[in-house]
Amino acid sequence: MSYWYSENRPQRQFGAVFDTNKCIECQTCTLACKTTWTTGRGQEFMLWNNVETKPYGSYPLAWDLQVLSKLGPQTWEGDTYTGQTVFEAAPAGLRVLGSERQSIDYNYPNVGEDEILGKVDRGGSLSLPQEMWMFYLARICNHCTYPACLESCPRSSIYKRPEDGIVVIDQGRCRGYQECVKACPYGKVYFNPSTGTSEKCIACFPKIEQGLQPQCFVNCIGKIRLQGWVSTPDKVKEDNPIDYLVHVRKMALPLYPQFGLEPNVYYVPPVHVPDQFLFQMFGPGVTKAKEAYLNAKEDKTLKGLFALFGCTERTIPYFKIVGDYAVALDDDRREIVRVPIYEPVVVRKAQDRIYQIMRSNTT
Ligand code: SF4
Ligand code: SF4
Ligand code: SF4
Repeated sequence: MSYWYSENRPQRQFGAVFDTNKCIECQTCTLACKTTWTTGRGQEFMLWNNVETKPYGSYPLAWDLQVLSKLGPQTWEGDTYTGQTVFEAAPAGLRVLGSERQSIDYNYPNVGEDEILGKVDRGGSLSLPQEMWMFYLARICNHCTYPACLESCPRSSIYKRPEDGIVVIDQGRCRGYQECVKACPYGKVYFNPSTGTSEKCIACFPKIEQGLQPQCFVNCIGKIRLQGWVSTPDKVKEDNPIDYLVHVRKMALPLYPQFGLEPNVYYVPPVHVPDQFLFQMFGPGVTKAKEAYLNAKEDKTLKGLFALFGCTERTIPYFKIVGDYAVALDDDRREIVRVPIYEPVVVRKAQDRIYQIMRSNTT
């Protein structure tokens, strides 16, 4: 695809995997970010992290529908996208196919929450195969390899940090033209009317610099998130947990790869959602990714790796399996933490004879 600037990859690239199957939309992540970074004047409406219910939820309003409907036919040949990205589809004189944002687009962050696709009719929800579905999609800035926000900025105020690939806006240079707000197809840049500048997720870089995972990751109740470093396909390290899920097992997929930005947050797709919908959202790898996830319980490495999600505040650059334990390793491959791969199951008797009570939950 045609990007304005030449390829310039950082020394290492911030990456993450979100397991959509485990998200309960508790919004703890949203509040963790909100209370850390966006409590100031002019930031009231900002949700650098948000969680929306698909298929109907979206924040800002219809962010993905707007791009998908403008992009034209999105065609694939095997694993290769052959349609236009937001860069080739840009109108004459512009670098990116953008979306105009109105203030009303930010008024309904919970639109479509918990709404399922399909009609619930006289117990129809119990039918198999599952015809009714919804799932929760947690979203932050993707710290893209080819950021549309960066490309669109007439002041060159946006840059990718060379040391970690995190995309940030230089608040001193920004003049509030809002080209980035329009250009980001994921709707992840916000204009602050109080400061007159644009703002976005900064991947909690002060924590990243200390080897710690971001706020929305470590506070995640469902333990759906893992932050690390993602390599290019020619430099994959099998003991890098992000590489393993993205490149080796191909279970974690980019969000709307057809946009052309190479986003660096990857999703394990929800196994109960029809492939047709997921194909449009995560690309052609969805069928195999779902199969691998459904078989993960038979696979010690995968099962162990998923046990490492949410187990430590430290970033996990490497991992290994030792016996029945999954071990998180730091940059020097020293142990950070180890967790059991198999949790013991304790079955308690329904009646406790000592206390003469009946238990309602016995497993
Ligand atoms: S905290 Fe975790 S489980 Fe809760 S909504 Fe956020 S991503 Fe989902
Ligand atoms: S998700 Fe949007 S704001 Fe984030 S780097 Fe990509 S284009 Fe920029
Ligand atoms: S990574 Fe940090 S700044 Fe970005 S959404 Fe999460 S908590 Fe907010």
